[in-house]
Order: sequence, then structure tokens, then C-alpha cells
Amino acid sequence: MYVKKPRLLTPGPTPLYPPAARAMAGADMHHRTGEFIEVYRSVIAGLRYFMGTENGIALFAASGTGAMEAAVSNLFSAGDKAIVCTAGKFGERWLRIAQAFGLDTVVIEKPYGESVKPEQVAQALAGNAGVQGVFIQATESSTGVSHDVEAIGKIVAATDAILVVDAITGLGTSVLEIDAWGLDVVIGGSQKAVMIPPGLAYCSVSEKALQRAAAASNPYFYFDLRKHIAAGVEGDSPWTPAASLILGLGEVLRFVREIGREKLIANAQLLARAARGAAQALGLELFVRDAIPAGAVTAIRPPAGIDSGEIVKRYKSDFAAIVANGQGSMKGRVFRYAHLGYFDFHDLFATVAELELILHDLGRPVEFGTGVRAAQAVYLAAQAADRTEAPR
Ligand SMILES: *Cc1c(COP(=O)(O)O)cnc(C)c1O
Repeated sequence: MYVKKPRLLTPGPTPLYPPAARAMAGADMHHRTGEFIEVYRSVIAGLRYFMGTENGIALFAASGTGAMEAAVSNLFSAGDKAIVCTAGKFGERWLRIAQAFGLDTVVIEKPYGESVKPEQVAQALAGNAGVQGVFIQATESSTGVSHDVEAIGKIVAATDAILVVDAITGLGTSVLEIDAWGLDVVIGGSQKAVMIPPGLAYCSVSEKALQRAAAASNPYFYFDLRKHIAAGVEGDSPWTPAASLILGLGEVLRFVREIGREKLIANAQLLARAARGAAQALGLELFVRDAIPAGAVTAIRPPAGIDSGEIVKRYKSDFAAIVANGQGSMKGRVFRYAHLGYFDFHDLFATVAELELILHDLGRPVEFGTGVRAAQAVYLAAQAADRTEAPR
């Protein structure tokens, strides 16, 4: 009760990978030395492995939104027609960026908690001549929902349009076959599954998309995709790179190669499944409806009559744990647990046990252990599957 370890349980920023935190302390390295160039080159190669693509990679000193803006500024011209899929706060961000750059937007909007369906995208493409691009999230972090980017990718790939995917929380938490599914631009950010602080944005860009860059006329200077991609393979960056974050990212990408990128994804999905099971066992409703639940983050409705902010506050005051409240109009109506990056079952078991104590303290009937037991059942099933796969 008297010692409380601060813990970050939010879908960005996420807990730091300790070797990365230590590597970041060595940041008095000059970025134009051979030593750093080697690190930068391996980080670009490591990102390509982590993302699972042959496409070019651009790495920016910016939060994730910087790469979102780069996609719009580099690949489109004012007046271009674009379909924007939105079902949450981050979909709304796509719309605002597209509008800021003068795109002629066709909006497919779904209520919070639901996902945009592939057939809606097919219909919008068929009903609007000359669509140049489609914007979507792989995972809508504000609602805990994943969109079916596999099906949508295949639909868009058959047209002249390019598909631009904000996978800032989708990467490392869901399977994304970037090249096979035709995901032209896929965007990530450093404070999510790659376990380092905010400040880096990265994206992969297909040949189809790069061809658009030559003809596009929206203005940009700093966020130049082609310059960053070309420099990156040489271990170089057009402007001063965020050296400290890149040193940290190098450590994380080494770790991802060690365990395998598919294992990092499986880890997030397993924790997400356990979180959903625990919430439901405690009689709580998930926010996701008629959609694929995200591996990155689980959004849970509080019991009737309780503001989710109250649960968030108790986590902080009683356990020094930072849990995310809802964003925008979802504030007070949902609380969110993250599973992306450096999270494990130890984190989840504690998070659920604490929720039981918080609900009890808020005057709700709780049979202690109900949620924890549901999470343990997911763990046991995974352990059994693991042992069949690789007998010891
Ligand atoms: C975190 C996040 C972003 C990026 O936000 P920044 O504040 O710019 O890092 C964008 N999209 C999604 C889905 C996110 O989760």
C-alpha cells in the first residue's frame, strides 16, 4: 500500500523496453559518423523486417501524425478525390488532414465501436469516378476496433487509387501483409508497439504510391517521403535525425527479430483476448460491436452509473497505474487497456485484479477472482497450445 510502482497501461505512450531506455542515454553520438550511420541503416532494415515489406521506408522526427500528413502532402494534389473511412477519433484526424490539404473528400462514417465494411469501400469506389486515394486506420485506438484492411486492400489494389493505412497501433498487434494485400502506405509511430518514447514516425510506401509523388502538387518540405526513403537506405537522413530515439529503436528491433515479429503480434492478441474475457466475466460490456476487436487496445464500458473517469482515477490513486479514458464524446463512457509492445501477462493479471478491487470500492458487487480466473483461462489455453507445438 505504501510503495506504488508507476505503470503505463495506455495505448501510447507504452512501457519502455529497458535496453532501449539505456541505449537512449548514449545519445551524444554525432549523426554523421560511421558509427551512427550503421545504426540508422540497421534501423531501416529492422523496420522493414518488423513491418514485413519490401517497400521503401521513411523515418521522420515527428509523432505519428507527421507521417499521416506526409502521405497526404506528398501523394495528393488539392482537388483530388479521396475516400476517408472513419469510425473514431483517428479516422476524424484523417478527414481533417485531407481537408487541410484541399482534398475533395467522400466520407464513409460508422458509429464509434463499429468498423467500416469492405463492401462500403467497394461501393464508394464504384459510385465515385476518379478516386485517387482511400484513407483508413488498421486499428482505431479510440474505440478498440480493427478494420478489415486485408479485404479493403484487395479492393483498392484493383483500382488506380492508393490505400493509405494509419497502422500506428495496428503494427505489431495485428497481421498486416503489406505487399500481398496492396497496402500502399502503412504508417507507424514510436510510442506504440515499438516500446520507445514518442517522437518518431515511420511509414512504408509502395511503388504505386511513389509514382503518384512525382505528379502530386501539394506543398511540403520537411516531410519529404522520397528524400527520406532514399537517404534511409544509405543510413542517412535529410535533416538531423532524432538520434536518441533511433538508438533506442535499434535495441527494440533487435529484440523483435529475436522473438519474431509474429510472436509480438500473437502476444498482443493473446493479452487482448484475456482482457476481453476478464471484462465480460465481470459483467462489463465491450465497446466493440459488429467489428473485429483490436489486438492493441481493449475498450470497456464502465458499469451503469459509473463514469469511466472514476475508474481511471482510482487506478492512478490506488495503484499508480495510468489507464486511458475515452476520447472526445467517449470520455466517461469507456476505459481502455493497452496490450501493444512491452506488455505481458503479469501486467494483465494485476490490471484485472485491481479492476475487481476498484469496482468493489465503487460499491459494485464483485466476486473476487472472477475476472482474474477468466484471464488465467486464456493463459492456460495458450500455454497448452505452446506445449503441443514445441514439446519440452
Ligand atoms: C497514437 C495514434 C496516432 C498518432 O498520434 P500522435 O499523437 O501523432 O502520435 C494516430 N493514429 C492512431 C490510430 C493512434 O493510435
